[in-house]
Amino acid sequence: MEKTDEEYEYDNEQINIMFPNAEFSVAIDIEDMEQLITDKQELFIKRTYDCYCYSYDNIKKKADYFYIRGENLTYRYVIEQLIKQRLQIHCEHRFLEGFDKTTDSVCQFELCLGS
Ligand SMILES: [Zn+2]
Repeated sequence: MEKTDEEYEYDNEQINIMFPNAEFSVAIDIEDMEQLITDKQELFIKRTYDCYCYSYDNIKKKADYFYIRGENLTYRYVIEQLIKQRLQIHCEHRFLEGFDKTTDSVCQFELCLGS
């Protein structure tokens, strides 16, 4: 079901309250925050710099990896840990839309970033 503008705005506010120190925008449904990303107790999050914002840099920026462990790796927990580990997104693609599992790995996920 589509959300109304008011509902969308309200959810957005709740997300901002949930993650006051995020240096990126969380664009994941608040209803999904308690969902597990994986049933494992640890994962790696890979942050690449493949978008066009970095295409003019002379030196290709290497990917960053964030290691996260915990009993329940929910969206909320993983995002909190990323904030603690100081994930910063300062390009145009600063909207975190989700986590994509890397196909050939059991515990590596890539950030889905949108603009
Ligand atoms: Zn970008």
